[in-house]
Amino acid sequence: MEDKEARLTMMHLANLISVPMALHTAVKLDLPDLIWQGGANLPISPAQLASLIRAKFSLATEPDAVNLQRILRLLAGHGVFEEVPDHGNPPAKAFRLTDVGRTLVSDDQGLSLGAYVLQHHQDALVQAWTCLHESVIDSSQEAFKKAHGVSAYEYYGKDSACNSLMQRAMSGVSVPFVRALLESYDGFGSEGLKTVVDVGGSSGSCLAMILQRYPGLQGINFDLPEVVADAPRYQGVTHMGGNMFESVPAGDAIFMKWVLTTWSDDECKKILENCQKALPEKGKVIACEPVVPENTDNSERTRALLAGDIFVMATYSAKGKHRTESEYRNIGVAAGFTNFRALYVDHFYTLLEFIK
Ligand code: SAH
Repeated sequence: MEDKEARLTMMHLANLISVPMALHTAVKLDLPDLIWQGGANLPISPAQLASLIRAKFSLATEPDAVNLQRILRLLAGHGVFEEVPDHGNPPAKAFRLTDVGRTLVSDDQGLSLGAYVLQHHQDALVQAWTCLHESVIDSSQEAFKKAHGVSAYEYYGKDSACNSLMQRAMSGVSVPFVRALLESYDGFGSEGLKTVVDVGGSSGSCLAMILQRYPGLQGINFDLPEVVADAPRYQGVTHMGGNMFESVPAGDAIFMKWVLTTWSDDECKKILENCQKALPEKGKVIACEPVVPENTDNSERTRALLAGDIFVMATYSAKGKHRTESEYRNIGVAAGFTNFRALYVDHFYTLLEFIK
């Protein structure tokens, strides 16, 4: 690579923080819903958008259309918006959402990936990033704990705004995933399956979708007491508070999404041992976790998985991580499961079946 190119690449990497921060700004200002307009998604100029923002947030003055355009352009360069030239005089630009930007539009339940973007940029998490190097120097040092004195889960539990943003963020990511999962995976339809427990089920929204698809099933949504205390009611779902490191409620199958990732190998083994005890003979844990490939490449998928892995290091635990398929297999065997398979049902999450 030429010197010039190397310097350019490094200037890009050094400024890359602008991308998530611009994305955060776009979500905070509600740009996706303002542009989407119930599906119209017509190209809109920054000046028109500024007026919509003013009305939406009852601002005393009009937002700055020039600065707004700067945010839109950067995100257009990253595939969130499409920049459409406007042939007026003087020539201007207009923007609409791409399919990627569309993931930030609220659905009929008010859910979107926007809450995940907001949750990732809360002050508390941004401060944790500044302590990331501590986790590299000594993996017993959790960056989040260094910054705040308590773990992220304890922090969310004590702050009801954080707790509810966390639940919205989880549902916003997980509901579309589970909707797609249920179209291709029928493991919840197995004969004799009556009760499904969702371990670390957060609000219970994923479990509610599984029960909707299989109305004969009963569901237990199991999470920390302070989390289920705030959870909405869903048909067929019983919320139960507890600690998965002590025990998990008995069921014919255990669903567990995005839980193992945030814990160390030993902690995952403990959680899976407790699941094992709670299952009947041949019962299974159906886990959905990000699974990283053995080798690094620059594909979007690998980059997304490796970026999420560092988020886990900064926020949850220096020993929680995005694992490979063989790492999960080994933990399952250590926890006493006799069979394991990985199904690549989604680009971000892999479905892992641990069979007793
Ligand atoms: N399964 C949900 C939420 C994943 S976040 C989804 O994918 O959308 C991980 C969840 O684990 C959080 O809701 C958190 O409160 C829960 N959790 C953390 N520690 C726990 C514990 N000791 N026992 C039970 N649940 C726990």
